[in-house]
Amino acid sequence: MHTVNTVSGPLAVDQLGVTLMHEHVCMASAGMFLDSRVQLDHAARLALAVARLQAAKASGIDTVVDATPIDLHRDAAFIKEAAEGADIQIVCSTGLYTEEHGQPSHFKHMSAQQVSDLFVHELTDGIGATGIRAGVIKVATSEHGVTDVERKTLEAAADAQARTGVPIITHTSAGFGVEQAKILTGAGATPGKVMIGHVDHKYSSWGYFERILRTGVNIAFDRCGLQVFLPDTVRAALIAALIDLGLHDRVFVSMDSVCVQTGPVSEFEKDAPEPLTYVAGDFAAILARYGVSAATLQSMLTANPARLFGAA
Ligand SMILES: [Zn+2]
Repeated sequence: MHTVNTVSGPLAVDQLGVTLMHEHVCMASAGMFLDSRVQLDHAARLALAVARLQAAKASGIDTVVDATPIDLHRDAAFIKEAAEGADIQIVCSTGLYTEEHGQPSHFKHMSAQQVSDLFVHELTDGIGATGIRAGVIKVATSEHGVTDVERKTLEAAADAQARTGVPIITHTSAGFGVEQAKILTGAGATPGKVMIGHVDHKYSSWGYFERILRTGVNIAFDRCGLQVFLPDTVRAALIAALIDLGLHDRVFVSMDSVCVQTGPVSEFEKDAPEPLTYVAGDFAAILARYGVSAATLQSMLTANPARLFGAA
């Protein structure tokens, strides 16, 4: 029996249910909390997170994977409080973000082995004194290519996966999914347990998807609703075409929403739909117009995550 670490403890993989693979309960830009003027209203933030997670549950979502890496202020204790307040399952991440927008020098200067040891510690022993174990590894590459620090971080993620068996999910910003897949699998990651994220960050050629999929990894249309990057009709048409080719089991759907943003809300987030409920609601309706049935979407949201966390 495979299990997955949720913030509330281990869960049998077959109990994941309908799962959004890339969301954020809370997030902040790297280093924001070094600014002494930043003060947070914990009660208000928690109430907002709980309300949005309750709405997700009411829309049929059983599990949310929080893709926030360490350096974007992943707050495992807050995530656990929110999960238990809303009575929903949440898996939190270990992992590090891009060199440009994330990693402080403490992490940048670690060897691949030291980074892998850090990830494994958070996946097996837990995160600080919280007693919470991460359940997934999140890594990222920059908009203009893969830097040396990011390559090392990807290699560390592959090593940590080999030691723990957990999935690796990624952030891409304008391509480089092929490079990520090759670095990860070249360093020993199991292709079926890798999900290359944000392939829908902007319009990408069909060849981009083919080249990533040919490495054996999975791809995620995980910015559904962020139409500033790509119209949802285009996302839906691309997902439908991949399903027509029999690739429904390699494609993940999520929305990269943030329940509680810390600091200024970015331009694209201003126009974002309500967090967590859009995939099962309006986006499901758009998919249906392109011939993707509710049953197919349900299976992609249930069987695919179970496979990624399971034997894959
Ligand atoms: Zn994200």
